[in-house]
Amino acid sequence: MAGEKEKNKAKRCPLCGGEMYDGITMLSFLMGEKVAIIKNVPAEICTDCGEAYMKSHVTGKVETLLDCIEELHSEVSIIYYEAA
Ligand SMILES: [Zn+2]
Repeated sequence: MAGEKEKNKAKRCPLCGGEMYDGITMLSFLMGEKVAIIKNVPAEICTDCGEAYMKSHVTGKVETLLDCIEELHSEVSIIYYEAA
């Protein structure tokens, strides 16, 4: 499951082949009439095209956060991602 290969710097952007670096991004999701924004999400970001890719362990946590948001009656939710 959790192969610790994150130190490997040879990762390339699937879109343009540019180099990726570890950074922080902000994600926004539209769920029906609700908008969710998650800030401070760890991601790998392409130096060339700026595309951000969530790491696999982050994806699961983001999905959990989105599930929680769906229960809320708030139309716009802004969540600060807290790394475990
Ligand atoms: Zn790229």
